[in-house]
Amino acid sequence: MLYTCPSCAAINRIPADKQNQQGQCGKCKQALFNSQPSELNDADFQRFIDKNELPVLVDFWAEWCGPCKMMAPIFKDVCGDMQHQLRFAKVDTEKAQLVSQRYAIRSIPTLILFKGGKEVDRLAGALPAPQLKQWIATALQKA
Ligand SMILES: [Zn+2]
Repeated sequence: MLYTCPSCAAINRIPADKQNQQGQCGKCKQALFNSQPSELNDADFQRFIDKNELPVLVDFWAEWCGPCKMMAPIFKDVCGDMQHQLRFAKVDTEKAQLVSQRYAIRSIPTLILFKGGKEVDRLAGALPAPQLKQWIATALQKA
């Protein structure tokens, strides 16, 4: 299974059946599973959603958005719990304007689940952790 390093973005090949192991990046030796959503921008977004073989959940947010700030710690917690099932990433809509336009982000926070570089499902608005996990489980079934 292909998995990009959260620290140096190198593409690592890891065994799909041993996803619960704490892998190490072959290039920079940092942990592959660090319980942190990856920050993406216009330059590295497409590569991240194309190259990772796990589904990718992206949180489109902005600094001025109150609900986004409420959502941030929840998103990070859920990332820690589910990081072996999917990748978690964040896109600052103020900085990554091309990506935000391409996916027609009209309200934030918006979450989009990608698989193989394609949008599978999206959710507008913040949710508490249990409901967010439920939404993810349903969305993963469509992936
Ligand atoms: Zn690395």
